[in-house]
Amino acid sequence: MSEESKVESVEFIEDKHVQYVIDQDSHRSFEYWLSEHLRLNGLYWGVTTLITMNKLDVLPENEVIEFVISCWDEKSGGFGAFPNHDGHLLSTHSALQILKIYDNDLKILDTKRSKIISFVKNLQLEDGSFQGDRFGEVDTRFIYNAVSCFALLGELTPDITEPATKYILKCQNFDGGFGLVPGAESHAAQVFTCLAALAVVDSLHIVQEDTRLIDWLSERQVLPSGGFNGRPEKLPDVCYSWWVLSSLAMLGKQHYVDLKKLENFILTCQDFQEGGISDRPDNQTDIYHTCFGITGLSLIDYKKYNFKEIDPIYCMPVEVTMKFKKWKYNDIPV
Ligand SMILES: [Zn+2]
Repeated sequence: MSEESKVESVEFIEDKHVQYVIDQDSHRSFEYWLSEHLRLNGLYWGVTTLITMNKLDVLPENEVIEFVISCWDEKSGGFGAFPNHDGHLLSTHSALQILKIYDNDLKILDTKRSKIISFVKNLQLEDGSFQGDRFGEVDTRFIYNAVSCFALLGELTPDITEPATKYILKCQNFDGGFGLVPGAESHAAQVFTCLAALAVVDSLHIVQEDTRLIDWLSERQVLPSGGFNGRPEKLPDVCYSWWVLSSLAMLGKQHYVDLKKLENFILTCQDFQEGGISDRPDNQTDIYHTCFGITGLSLIDYKKYNFKEIDPIYCMPVEVTMKFKKWKYNDIPV
């Protein structure tokens, strides 16, 4: 069998993936309860998986929205991962993404809106970086979460974006990649958060033609499998299909890698009995890798799968992001 025909032979089992996402909430397993600290993020991964496959209507909209609102922590002004948890930037970002998908104007936030804005603003430190919560560490990931929250709320302003941009650029390494903090090793997930944050604040042009960065990203493809790794010498993993390919897509360079081989790698990581996608073939599936496998397939060829086109900056459907991208601060009519 030729390599090409082998690639074509892996089937995409959409119906099983839909059922897999629906079943997430009824998996009352030990792992399920352990994952309480990530529950709102998990819901975002599920909602994004379904909307990408044009299947969002299988979830009960009212219950999803009610759950998200019930995670709001009045004391901090942010959303926690679960009802009665303290507000955190990660879950606040997930909450706003989910609500935005269902309610483009975010009218449902009502008086919570100004408190959410203050919560996120107060997490920015003097050097432009962000903490995840008042006690938490600094991580370039949180800059992405913060500027995305402001973009979703239509509240991006130069007092936030200019110091954030300066801080991100300090996190770029000699190899072209970005790390967690200045001087930290380059890592693909961090490259995504830094590039996407720069894109949100309209500063991606600063690194757009950086060949070290483009080379570093292209070198993440591991052959012969075709999957991407997060750092040199590491095993390929489905979630990097998203972190790396979305980064290349933002730079307009996704054709620098073998997309056919990447697509095949993602498809071979499906659980053909139960649905869902794992990090590597034959491993245990989870909603995180299912989401980034399917959004990765959307980036590769959304038309072939009858998917929605995904926005590489926001990891939300383009039809949603097109409605608020006009809110970039320098575009707001005075
Ligand atoms: Zn992974």
